[in-house]
Order: sequence, then C-alpha cells, then structure tokens
Amino acid sequence: MFKTINLSSQIKKQLPAELVQFTQAAGEVACRQRQSLYLVGGVVRDLLLGRTNLDLDLVVEGDAINLAQRLTQVYPGKIITHPRFNTAKLQWDKWSVDLATARSETYAKPGALPSVKAGSLENDLSRRDFTINTMAIHLDPSHYGELIDLYGGIYDLEHKLIRILHEKSFTDDATRIWRGLRYEQRLDFHLEETTLKLLKRDIPMLDTISGDRIRHELELVLKEEFPEKVLRRAEELDVLKWLHSSLRGNGWLAEKFRQAREISYPNLPPVGLYLALLTYRLTAEENEQLISYLRLPKSLAQALRDTSSIKAKLRSLADSKLPPSGIYRLLYGYSPQAITANSLASDSSVACRHIQLFLNKLRYIKPSLTGYDLKRMGITPGPRIKEILQLLHEARLDGKVKSKRDEEELVRGWVD
Ligand code: ATP
Ligand code: MG
Repeated sequence: MFKTINLSSQIKKQLPAELVQFTQAAGEVACRQRQSLYLVGGVVRDLLLGRTNLDLDLVVEGDAINLAQRLTQVYPGKIITHPRFNTAKLQWDKWSVDLATARSETYAKPGALPSVKAGSLENDLSRRDFTINTMAIHLDPSHYGELIDLYGGIYDLEHKLIRILHEKSFTDDATRIWRGLRYEQRLDFHLEETTLKLLKRDIPMLDTISGDRIRHELELVLKEEFPEKVLRRAEELDVLKWLHSSLRGNGWLAEKFRQAREISYPNLPPVGLYLALLTYRLTAEENEQLISYLRLPKSLAQALRDTSSIKAKLRSLADSKLPPSGIYRLLYGYSPQAITANSLASDSSVACRHIQLFLNKLRYIKPSLTGYDLKRMGITPGPRIKEILQLLHEARLDGKVKSKRDEEELVRGWVD
C-alpha cells in the first residue's frame, strides 16, 4: 500500500487564506451535490515545489457549470461559462478560479484539436502533457488535501524530470514540445531520456500545428522569466528553426534579453520588444515569412516591420552631427518597442544616444503655437500654415526657440 500524502498544511502555508477557505467551501458544496472536486495541474506541481502559483484549476467529476453557479451563491462574483466544454471561470476582485468537468480526449489526427467527452478524474489526468502536471488534490471534506499521483509525478518532481505519459504524446499534440522546453528551463529540470528521444523524433510534427497555436506557444515562452533559456534550448534541439531557419537563440540574444529586462524593470519587457530582438537579425523578407506563418496581430507585425525599417536607418542615426530635428525625422512614427529594440541591438554608441534622446525627450516636444494662433497672427489659412508649423517644430527641437514669444518672433521674421 502507498502511504497517503496529505498536502493540507502546504495549501495553508502557500495559498492566501481567502483561497484556502474557498477550496474548503467548494469541496463541501461539491460533496453535498454528490460530486467530487479536485485541485489539479500546475498549482499542485507548484505547491509541491514551494513555488507561488495563484491560478487555481479545479476539476469536478460531475458538472462544472452547475457547481460554479452554486459556488457564486456562497462567493458572489463574476461567472463566465463555456457550455461546449462544460467549464466555468469564477472571478472576484483579486482572484479567479477555473473549473472544468473531468473529461477524456481523443485525437482524430495529429495536431488536430481533440474531441472531448465527459469522463472520470483518471481520464482527465491521462490526457495531460507531463507527469509533473498530472497530480491532483482531493477537496472532498473527508479527504481534503490528499494527493493523487497516478503517473509518478512526485518521483519525477524529486528527480527533476519532464516526462510524457505515453509514446504518442508529441504526435498527438506537438505544442507539447514547446511546453516541455518551457517547463524544463523554468524549473531547471531535464527532459527524461525517452521523452527527449521522442521529442527529437517528433519535431517535424510541429508542422501539423496551426500558426495560431505556435504563436500562442511562442508568446508563452516570451512571458517566462528567462525566455532566452528556452530559446537557447530550442536552438540546441533544432526546434527553433521550425519557427524560421534563420532564427538564433545564442549568447547575443541572451545578452539583449537581459538588457531589455533591465530597462523595463520593475515590469517584464513587453512581448513585442522580445520578439523584435529575436527577429532582429532576419532580413525584411524573412520577417514577412514569419509574420505570415505566425499570423501575428497587426501591432506585433508592425513592431517587427518598424524594427527592420529603423535598422536600415542606423547608419544615418550614427552621425554625430545629426541635429535633434534630424533624429526626430528619422524616428518619428515608429513603434516605441521597435525603436527600443534598435537601441539595444545597435553597436553604435552615437546611434544609441540619439535613440535615447528621441525616446526620453524629443518625441514629446511640440511647438507652442497652433494653427489657430497662426491665423490670429494674420497668416492666410492653407498649406502655408502646415509648413510654418513644421518649421516651428524643428526650431523647437533644435533649441532655436524656447517660448511661445520666441516662436511668435520667429514667425513674424519669416512672414515679414
Ligand atoms: P503554467 O504555470 O505554465 O500556467 P500550468 O500547468 O498551469 O502551468 P496551463 O497551460 O495553465 O499549465 O495548463 C493547465 C494544465 O492543463 C497543465 O498542467 C496540463 O496538465 C494541462 N495542459 C495544458 N496544455 C496541455 C497540452 N497541450 N497537452 C496536455 N495537457 C495540457
Ligand atoms: Mg496555468
């Protein structure tokens, strides 16, 4: 007989009191409904590792939407339901909890989204990606805190191993390749030997996954604390070239990602900045290939295109005699993430200084006089006004005028 591991003290130690109470109350409500409720997936893994994780995933053998509705009577909050999968999300000011009906999945063909039907907890755990993500905790009052470990998740946690559940796992769903690298690098684990062998074998299965889903995986990578570790490993295993053959996950990238974090602190760098650095060394044409493969949304696509356009102007930006108005003209209108990516990537200290000047100061400078003021000064409405405003803007940028009065004087000089 296995010894039962009870994690209730870990739960109390690591989760905020409100969430602990919620798990207890939810277990009681489910029990009264004759449904069994479990905490599953990442939060169980992280409880055992002592890592903070407040994303509670619950699985119920029964009916998740029905249970969620009952729970909102005890814990009033927002409820979002997905009847197709019989899942629900409960949201309060500070927390949210996902509730799913235990289900089994089958894959009609590799890379397809699975067909889903209601099932047992066991079914639900057997469809998961890695053993360390298959553990569950009973929330039923008479078993509260008891660990369910059907696939040796504890063993693999202790031995720091990322292991798939069956030989066809990566074929069924090749996004697990990226997921595996992510967990391995985040937790400082290793891909278990057979898993690694199968992963390598199944890399070509990444072609069965839609660009949208690959993009989603890449975004998850870029939201990790140290994405460069995942990208380096992806290069080492030849996974990265499946995104684009010209991408590199080497030391240069690691250094640039580190700098991106430094300048973004205390926030994490936006995905667009990381992506611009990752693709920095691609040609404009290669960029376009990646944009269409990943079906990047407009704003990200624009950031990559802008990065490429600015890169082509770096030589001009590196001219130490360039006046502020010249810097402004070169950088105006581009996405700030693209501009920042170039300042991190450029080797020229002059270009970097100019870019910093633009980002910190020049982009906010505007003339004081408006078109309306110019009309009031007797200038006939028309293209002339626009021209004068532009000249004023340049004079402001170059420090030739410092006040509204200076500007008026300058305009009078031009008009007279
Ligand atoms: P993270 O800390 O990265 O959020 P997580 O374990 O919570 O880790 P999610 O992506 O939130 O991961 O997914 C929740 C659970 O769903 C996982 O623990 C895993 O068991 C399962 N899962 C997610 N994606 C897959 C997949 N592609 N194949 C199999 N199981 C998956
Ligand atoms: Mg999660």
